[in-house]
Formats: sequence, C-alpha cells, structure tokens
Amino acid sequence: MLLVAFGVVRVLNDRPDLERWRALELPPAKLPIGDGEVRITFFGVSTLVIRDRETTILVDGFFTRPGLLTMLVGEVEPDPLVIAAELERAGVERAAAVIVVHSHFDHVMDAPEVAKRTGAVVVGSESTANVSRGWGLSSDQIVVPEPGEDLRYGGFVVTLFESEHFPHGMAMGEITEPLVPPAPALDYLDGGSFSVAIAHPESGTILVQGSAGWRPGALSGKKFDVVLLGVGGLGGRDDAYRDDYYDQVVESVQPSLVIPIHWDDFTRPLTEPLRPFPRIQDDLDVTMKFLIDRAHESNRTDVAMLPPLREVKLLPRPDPGQAE
Ligand SMILES: [Zn+2]
Repeated sequence: MLLVAFGVVRVLNDRPDLERWRALELPPAKLPIGDGEVRITFFGVSTLVIRDRETTILVDGFFTRPGLLTMLVGEVEPDPLVIAAELERAGVERAAAVIVVHSHFDHVMDAPEVAKRTGAVVVGSESTANVSRGWGLSSDQIVVPEPGEDLRYGGFVVTLFESEHFPHGMAMGEITEPLVPPAPALDYLDGGSFSVAIAHPESGTILVQGSAGWRPGALSGKKFDVVLLGVGGLGGRDDAYRDDYYDQVVESVQPSLVIPIHWDDFTRPLTEPLRPFPRIQDDLDVTMKFLIDRAHESNRTDVAMLPPLREVKLLPRPDPGQAE
C-alpha cells in the first residue's frame, strides 16, 4: 500500500520543468505605460489583465484556484479575499469588461466578483450570464453579445466568435438557471466556447483561444498580430490533432507571435509559483516543442511565454528583425 502511494506521488510530481522554457519569456515592462501601448499580465489558465493607458479589460479573471481535493470531491466558490488581493497585485481598481471564454469553473467562477469590485461588465455566453446572476451581479453588468458583434471598451474593440472546447467530454452543456456557489466544479458547464478577438486599432490585434478546440474555418480570413493559445490537454493528444489545431487557430490568422496559455496546474494558489500540469495529465514539453517546430516552419511566427504575474508590453509588435 505504501509503495502504491509512493508511486502515485511520484507520478503526480513528474512535471515538465518550466526553467527549460524561461528563456522564451517576454521581458517585464517598465512603468509608466506609453501612449498607444497595450500591456498584458498573465495570472495562469486564461486569466489575463490587458490594458492601455486609459482602459483595463480582463479575460476570465479566475483567481481563487481551489485545491485539487475541493475540485474533485468538494464544492467550489469564489474567495473574495483572494480576488481582492490579486486585483490589487495586478494594480486593477477599475475595469471595463471581464470577457469569459467559456463557463467552466476555471474560467468563469470569479468573473462576477471581479465585476462587482471593478465596475466591469461580464461578457460571455448565456451560461456565463447565469453564473453572474447566481452571484447577484446586476443585470446592467451582464452582457451576452451576438457572435461577431463588436463591443467597444475605451480603445479596445472586443469580438467573440463561436468556437469549440477541447474534447475531454466533461461538464459540457448549458447552465440554464442562476448558479449559486458553493457548487461542485462539474456544475459549471461549458456553455459554448469562444475565440476572443481584442483589437486596439492604433496598436494591433490579439486573439485569445481559451481552450484547445476549434470550429473549422471559423477564423479563416481573419488576421491577428498575437495569438494567446490555450494549450491545456494538447500535450496528451497526437500530432494530427495538434497540427489541425495549429492550422485552424494559428496558421490561418498569420500572427507574428504565438504565446501558450492554460498550461499551469490551476489547483495551486497564485501565492505559489505557477507550475505545469503533471505529465500524466498533460505535457508542456511536448506542446512547446511542437509549437516551436510549427512556428519555425512558418517562418513568420515567433513563440514566447508570458512571465507569470508580471506585466509585459504586447502591442505594438516591433518591426520584424528589430530587437525589442
Ligand atoms: Zn474548459
């Protein structure tokens, strides 16, 4: 029995070493933020704080990160103290919008509390709206846009395009009534996944793909400077799957930069360093090698990492060949 337990611990502790990819991290930006600059801070999963000089928007805003046991057998709920502390660390007092890529708990759960604290609207699916209602967010802070509709927040134009979730088959379907936490993690049903386009007309365009799935052709004809690519689960799929995903979500939109997100073990709090999922669940090394190979082939796209919890300049991109 002890040997079995020892074996389980060993398997769960076998994780890719993040140090191997540190050299790809973009350099932290210095204050103050320049005119026309768009900056981004990565808080794990697909939680992103994106701002220019006047306006802050967030993707997901998931900060609570309940532990593994709570997630598997308990009930999850937003922790307002953790959310307040992380917003403070991010320097976010006011925000215009929290855009939710889909309504699994590791994306949507904290969004309505972030909105309450910052005055933002929560933007997402009808399921995301029901999570927001369950947390008592007022209806004028809940936005369910039409797919393809342009939403304006200061200098940002945000557009949600329908996409597909990574096919793990868990917690799919719609949340049809206000969801009141605490609740089992699996009560947070996907509710439809989006590709999120964030344009800053002076400075460039960003695509956020929260989950490693796609809708064939949904992004064809569109162009983005930077793709923030959800890679959760990608290391466990075969090359054919990875190639299709890359073709549909990266190659088709011709970015100069692709950055993996959703690679960290989100059962660990943000007060500890981000670390990759155990290899048995996913393998960041496989994903990184794949991304670097594909990007190299394209001759157009670089691969970078975001330094966790550090703000970096994302737009405008430097001219090709010009060092930053
Ligand atoms: Zn999900």
